[in-house]
Amino acid sequence: MKDITKKYTNGEVTIVWKPDLCIHSTLCFKGLPTVFDPKKRPWVTPEGSATDKIIEQVKKCPSGALSYYLNRDAAEEK
Ligand code: SF4
Repeated sequence: MKDITKKYTNGEVTIVWKPDLCIHSTLCFKGLPTVFDPKKRPWVTPEGSATDKIIEQVKKCPSGALSYYLNRDAAEEK
């Protein structure tokens, strides 16, 4: 099985996307079209909105294809 993970960051939050899990529910790009646009490459533009808005939208992903972490937290783990 493929296990692709793509990451997109605005320097503050990192959006993690697993295309194999995406069920194309369209929720993310209807909810936050300035960040998620399937017609664009790359389709995620983390600079398109504020970090808290991004987190809010990522949490609504029904399939678990989208997740996120704060870069600050990732740095502390090292
Ligand atoms: S909300 Fe999640 S499942 Fe729906 S299109 Fe976006 S990434 Fe895919």
